[in-house]
Amino acid sequence: MLNPQKVFSKTWTITPNSIKKIISKIPLTRQVCALTMFGGIHYYKYYKKLQKMQEWNPEKINNYQSKQIKKIINYAYENIPYYRNLFKKENIKPSQIRCTDDLKRIPILTKSEILKDPSKFISKKNKAFTTKLTGGSSGTPMSIAYDLKHYASRRATTRFFKNLAGYDDYTIRLGIPSLGPLYKTNQEFYEYNPITNQIFISSTHLSKEIFQKYINIIRKYNPQYAEGHPSVFYKFALYLKEKNITNIQLKSLQSCGEVLYPFQRDAISKTFNCEIFDFYANEEGICYASECKSHNGMHISPIMGFVEIENQKENQPGEIIATGLCNYYMPLIRYNLQDMGIITTEKCECGNSFSRLTSVIGRSNDTIILPDKTQIPPNHFTSAMEKFRFAEGFQIIQEDQKNININIVKKGKINLKETKILKKYMESLTKNQMTISINQVKDINPIGRKNKYKYIISKI
Ligand SMILES: [Zn+2]
Repeated sequence: MLNPQKVFSKTWTITPNSIKKIISKIPLTRQVCALTMFGGIHYYKYYKKLQKMQEWNPEKINNYQSKQIKKIINYAYENIPYYRNLFKKENIKPSQIRCTDDLKRIPILTKSEILKDPSKFISKKNKAFTTKLTGGSSGTPMSIAYDLKHYASRRATTRFFKNLAGYDDYTIRLGIPSLGPLYKTNQEFYEYNPITNQIFISSTHLSKEIFQKYINIIRKYNPQYAEGHPSVFYKFALYLKEKNITNIQLKSLQSCGEVLYPFQRDAISKTFNCEIFDFYANEEGICYASECKSHNGMHISPIMGFVEIENQKENQPGEIIATGLCNYYMPLIRYNLQDMGIITTEKCECGNSFSRLTSVIGRSNDTIILPDKTQIPPNHFTSAMEKFRFAEGFQIIQEDQKNININIVKKGKINLKETKILKKYMESLTKNQMTISINQVKDINPIGRKNKYKYIISKI
């Protein structure tokens, strides 16, 4: 099997030498800073396009996406070995794919298919701009390579969604992103990016000392907006509450990188006295979505990808499948993002016709599977935990077909009466088919390259 890293490392050789030289000489945090400068005219065009498209009706948006689909399907057939073979094997002619509905003729693409031979997904004709590695918090990490236009569409969409949350790319803001390892390498705790006006703070090794540092940095820069993993802000909120610190306030906070649970939204918004905007994104860059002021689902960026839900039954979540519309270097057609959600095309109160993900409940492989094969979505367990507020942190692990371990973080001794009720409640949730064990632990560490905090882990 080919190593995807080796395949994609070639992409740097195509990047103009001058840019490569400059970037390689600067520290990693500054690289992020430098990359934000690229995107140029495409970035500006996409940003303006999104502003226009929010006035469009669903039909006009669909026509636009159908046109983009036709273009990328033709391109993929002509230039990407995997799709050429697939279309021949399935007896599909590119001319048969004329609109979003026709996409259904094409089989769903999985990450494991790409990992078999990533070189088959690469265009020989187009040039790569950069690569990103998917997080790996739920499986093997995978490299995604993309061209400059795709990069520009990501940046434009991110800026557009920040606007929905009331701020701009250039407003001073606090970012606690998934950059933990980055800070390990250069030994710095935080960095200020003057181009995007953003203060990046490390989210690695959260502790009371670290939260005190957060407070000092916030007092120094006074950011009104923040972005980052909800698990980090939730822990920070608990710390502020414990210390009775009430003067750390924000206008809005963009929650990203993990599922945002109602108990987190509640605690974070109360502590920071701010509005929270849930934001859904992925390294594949084919489905970005964000809440608007109505907070009734997340609007999907129509320029980045066309999104479908597979196996959505009535109002139950199904798998999120997306077709990228901008990345001609490594097109992803009907790609399974391995997340579960519900989609709606009903018009939002805000007036924007972009379709919405009304619920994203996490990775499809975080589903708990009972011995009788019933699947229980992760949010059923997390909302059950909300009823038991005594835990300061928790993680639910399905060890095998019959056993679930619930690890609980709590200062002092756990109240036996409370754990007994919790155990009983969880057993009933599994239709009494599984044995529930409750353990008190010191802490729960985030996992994967991107430091994601997982509330539910299924090992089967
Ligand atoms: Zn809306």
